[in-house]
Amino acid sequence: MKILLVEDDIMIGEGLQKALRRSGYSVDWVQDGFDVEQSLESHAYCLVILDLGLPNKNGLAILQDLRKKKNDIPVLVLTARDAVSDRVKGLDTGADDYMLKPFALEELEARIRLLLRRKENKRIPLIAFGSLTLNPATHEVVYKDKKCVLSGREFSLMRVLVENPGVIYSRAQLEEKLYGWNEEVESNSVEVHIYQLRKKLGKGIIKNTRGVGYAIGECS
Ligand code: CA
Repeated sequence: MKILLVEDDIMIGEGLQKALRRSGYSVDWVQDGFDVEQSLESHAYCLVILDLGLPNKNGLAILQDLRKKKNDIPVLVLTARDAVSDRVKGLDTGADDYMLKPFALEELEARIRLLLRRKENKRIPLIAFGSLTLNPATHEVVYKDKKCVLSGREFSLMRVLVENPGVIYSRAQLEEKLYGWNEEVESNSVEVHIYQLRKKLGKGIIKNTRGVGYAIGECS
C-alpha cells in the first residue's frame, strides 16, 4: 500500500511519514504542489494525503485538476483551514475526507483504513489465482483451504506476483514496489518477506529462479 503524502511543513511531514511507515504503509513525501501530478503519473498510489497551503500550486487546485482528469484516487485533505466554507469547498472539489490540524494520529490512521476499505469494496473484492485467494480489504489469504493473515508488505508482495503470473521480478523491482523513495531498506528485506510467506503458505508458493528473481509458484 503506497501513500503519497503532500505536505510542506517539515515537522508534520517527517512525523507522518515515520508513523505511517511504522504502520506498514510505504510513503512517498512531496513538499511542492508542482510535484504532485508527476508523482501520481509515475507511481501507483492507493491514497493521497493532501495539505491545502502548498508552495507553487495549492491543494484545492491540485484536487480540482485530478478530478477533472477523472482520477478517482482517494484524497484525504489535511489542513489548518477550519472555516466551514473551506471544508465544504474541499469536499465539493472531490476530497474523500477532510481533517483539521492538529490531528490525532490514531484518528488519521482510522480514516485512512476506512478510505482504503471503501476503495477496495468498490473493486472486485477478491484476487484469485488457482487455489489461492487474496482479500485486499483484510490482507487475508486462503491457500489450499488454509487461512492466514499477512503483514502489509507481505500482502503487497504476494499481490504483485499473483497479479502478474509468469513474470519474474528481480529483488530490486520488488523493493521499488514495496518501499517509498529514500526509505531505508535492509539489503535482505525482500528475502525476509519471502521467507515468511513460504513459512505461512508453503515453500512452493514462490518460485525462485536463481540469479533472476521471483515469481508466483504453482497454485493449482
Ligand atoms: Ca502547508
